[in-house]
Amino acid sequence: MTTRRKSANSYYEVDYKKGSIKRTHKFCPRCKGTFLAKHKQRSSCGLCGYAEFS
Ligand SMILES: [Zn+2]
Repeated sequence: MTTRRKSANSYYEVDYKKGSIKRTHKFCPRCKGTFLAKHKQRSSCGLCGYAEFS
């Protein structure tokens, strides 16, 4: 098993020129406050299994 290091920074995209922060992940509408994991065709919540297709 490989250990994946994931920092909180990966959830945000910072535009240094504009000085703004863009959220790259969506929140789960069910759990609220939980980020949806991004997949190729969909985003899914690891907690409740909610999935959104893009
Ligand atoms: Zn959820």
